[in-house]
Amino acid sequence: MAQGSLKIDRARYVITVDGERRIIRDGSVLIERGRISRVGPAADLADARADRVIDARNLVVTPGFVNGHMHISYAHPVRGIFPDDVGSPLKHVFALQMAMTEEEEYHTSLLALLELVSNGTVCLLDPGSTKFPDACLQAYEDAGVRVVLGEAVTDRDAPFPLPRYATTDAVARTTAFIEKWNGRLEGRLRAWAMPFSPETCSAELLQALKRVVDERGTSLTLHHGSGAQARKEYQARGAKSPTEYLEALGVLGPNVLLAHALGIDDNEIDCIARTGAAVAMCPVTAAKAARGVGVNGRMPELLARGVRVALGCDSPNNSNHLDLVRAMNMAAIQYKDARQDMRQIPAEAAVEMGTRLGAAAVGLGDEIGAIEAGKRADLVLFDTRRPEWQALWNPVSNLVYNADGRSVHTVVIDGRIVVDAYRQTFVDADRLFSTVQEIGERLQARTGITFPRSRWPVV
Ligand SMILES: [Zn+2]
Repeated sequence: MAQGSLKIDRARYVITVDGERRIIRDGSVLIERGRISRVGPAADLADARADRVIDARNLVVTPGFVNGHMHISYAHPVRGIFPDDVGSPLKHVFALQMAMTEEEEYHTSLLALLELVSNGTVCLLDPGSTKFPDACLQAYEDAGVRVVLGEAVTDRDAPFPLPRYATTDAVARTTAFIEKWNGRLEGRLRAWAMPFSPETCSAELLQALKRVVDERGTSLTLHHGSGAQARKEYQARGAKSPTEYLEALGVLGPNVLLAHALGIDDNEIDCIARTGAAVAMCPVTAAKAARGVGVNGRMPELLARGVRVALGCDSPNNSNHLDLVRAMNMAAIQYKDARQDMRQIPAEAAVEMGTRLGAAAVGLGDEIGAIEAGKRADLVLFDTRRPEWQALWNPVSNLVYNADGRSVHTVVIDGRIVVDAYRQTFVDADRLFSTVQEIGERLQARTGITFPRSRWPVV
């Protein structure tokens, strides 16, 4: 898509997350042919002309947010149906996911993308739950996002319904998926291998998929957990822990992203750091699902070891919101509480995970994640003319501790404005909301998965 030039002029602050982590007061950004060509103090860019100029004097500019683990394919129509006391809803989650039709998945994905983009996410990794990428391609195209896609595969029994294939078929499907999809959307679509988890995939499958991504210069993600019980089970199979099991198989490396990574011990952190693997953590899911980051969360140690840690919102029935600013907030506060130490996960670290580190974790560190000349132009402009942005002395603190995605004013992806002063133009939102509500009714009726609406009487 041809892009005109765009100048973001005289921003109140530009939080660059560049190599020096500069925050430019009264800063400007020039975008040409989809890339950032210049960034600096407004006075230095006074001569810069553009097809469109945004007066940003009341705006704070940040890099676009990267969501490193975000299932967008099924949950919106049934968001909120699981009561808090139902226990883990996972078996229902996967049954609902398997029951989605092509048309339902398109609308559901479009709604998820609307929520993501409106809250400042420019790039998401969907961990393999989208069944009909052909149908959903138009939604990704319309929303203008960057997306990492794959097909979840397993070749072993799982405690919940997942797509299961013979090992050779799982490898063939993944290879075909990567060859068909990688590089589509003018390079904004990346296709990865997505074995569901080490427990639901054989060693042969994991090793074969690692070879597939190594040969094709792409990457692999999988759900990954550990904890005392899991370590015992892996020890019975001759490995010290789930992470060391993956390392022994040769399945870890810089092109591998481990999702969740809760319950890992010091040896496993060594293993992740040594192999250069990345991690995507979902802090709101961890809190809402009572996963106990005080015992199981090792985000501070992973960051201290230089591991690329991305943040994710997981799913509209887990986090349940799709707002990376709120995920940054949770990451910054939950470790302070869990460790009873206010120095844990400073606001700056939370912003790094949402931008620069998250981009690096999904293999796009050279392209996005910072406001630097040469990078693709993915930016979020926050509206400071709102109460939660007052008073404004430290914009990183305002962003992480006061604000949320509701103050996202304008979003630029690849130099194209996809949200313009709170207005998106890619979807008729009211009609979409009604459609998704109807899909939810049909889906519950068809699957029989439904619960009392509320603990309080709905009269
Ligand atoms: Zn997941």
